[in-house]
Amino acid sequence: MQPELKSPVRVRFAPSPTGYPHLGNIRTALFNWLFARHYGGKFILRIEDTDVARKVEGAVEAILDSLQWLGLDWDEGPYFQSQRLPIYRETGHKLLEEGHAYLCYCSPERLEAMRQEQIKRKQPPKYDRRCRDLAQQEKTRLQATGITPVIRFTTPLEGETTFHDLIRGPVTFKNDTLDDFVLLKSDGYPTYHLASVVDDHMMAISHVLRADEWLSSTPRHVLLYQALNWQPPQFAHLPMILGPDRAKLSKRHGATTVTEYQKQGYLPEAVVNFLALLGWSLDDRTELLSREELIKHFSLERVGKTPAIFNKDKLEWMNGVYLRKLSLGEFVQQALPFLDRELPKSVERPLDKTYVSQVLSLIQERAKTLVEVPQLASFFFLDELQYDTGLLLSGKLDAKSAANAITIASQKLEEVMTWDATALESALRPLAAELNLDTGKFFGLLRVAITGRTAAPPLFQTMAVLGKERCLKRFNAALQLLSTYSN
Ligand code: GLU
Repeated sequence: MQPELKSPVRVRFAPSPTGYPHLGNIRTALFNWLFARHYGGKFILRIEDTDVARKVEGAVEAILDSLQWLGLDWDEGPYFQSQRLPIYRETGHKLLEEGHAYLCYCSPERLEAMRQEQIKRKQPPKYDRRCRDLAQQEKTRLQATGITPVIRFTTPLEGETTFHDLIRGPVTFKNDTLDDFVLLKSDGYPTYHLASVVDDHMMAISHVLRADEWLSSTPRHVLLYQALNWQPPQFAHLPMILGPDRAKLSKRHGATTVTEYQKQGYLPEAVVNFLALLGWSLDDRTELLSREELIKHFSLERVGKTPAIFNKDKLEWMNGVYLRKLSLGEFVQQALPFLDRELPKSVERPLDKTYVSQVLSLIQERAKTLVEVPQLASFFFLDELQYDTGLLLSGKLDAKSAANAITIASQKLEEVMTWDATALESALRPLAAELNLDTGKFFGLLRVAITGRTAAPPLFQTMAVLGKERCLKRFNAALQLLSTYSN
């Protein structure tokens, strides 16, 4: 039997709204979602908003939007921990009554001073358990001071806590390395440990799939389950995501919020495919997997133990692949808002849909993200191109022969009746030999005159889309530039 097959499968994504979700956070959501969908289970969304001080405005909305954008639909929730405070308080007090927890009156100042001292002595910061065994008299005295105590867990001083991680196998922590961690804070809010255990139990979570950074919290949770006499869920800690330099993933590696990727014109299908491969693989070859294939094949057995490496270039490449898979109509629909937003105001609106569609048929092959589309396509829309005159001579022609070549090409084009790529090519190709110019250089020159750049979609197709009038106008403008050019 596969260890992960405990039914019914109920998993959760439990983000804290302390910031906008990054790719790493959403990878956790995706793995949970895939696991639920693969086993026909439930995917539950729970917002862990008990850290009032670190709450970020708009973060909850960003979490919901990101999940929706990526099509990670949830079956239950969102539950908000801030709306469930009485449940945690009740459990905290139950633990207190049953002798698994105690009241701690230590002031934040004392705790901070202790922490600093421990850091100075190179010891791991840990509560010194001063309030663990207070004499009744002392308790009464402290109670009378009016200080609101916190509730701390009475962690066993000896022994070990072991659990089976579905990815890493058996994991053991020595209890004396664990702190008497806080369960309920003096503001009445639970800590992550208490709220997480209570909710995972109450919500009948079968599997906890979460990032590796939570591994050291798990023995605490296991001890809490034991104290509460609850059956713990199964745990699976997902491998870390690092940058190509093996440092912790950050903005500098091109990893950012999901919202930002959406703005830059990544397709949700590409992002899902990319994220699925951050720690999971089908085999050692397959890169492109549809959502359905991911659901079909996903299993924890193929989640790696070693860190996954985030590679921005791969994400871009993959997005390009997904962009090219779109029908032209779909591509136009996706790209149009980007063109509309980014093209200069001088370009007449509304954009001509037929023209846009012709232009985009040449751009689709080349764009890796939608945000690149306006940049790649702008020369199709502008009345006048701005480019460095030297670009016309980048094929090492002198200004005079360049001007001559453009003049001859213009004359030839005047005669072209059917303005399509084939006709344009048959008109222009023979000219290179007539002018005694290398074909590459000749077409390179024309490309710059037509597009203002050295790299652009195929020349004749570009000219066909631009139309006769625009092309001739651009040749004229190039001649003007050359006439004022001094070598
Ligand atoms: N609230 C935690 C987070 O922000 C959840 C950790 C867990 O999944 O238990 O990642």
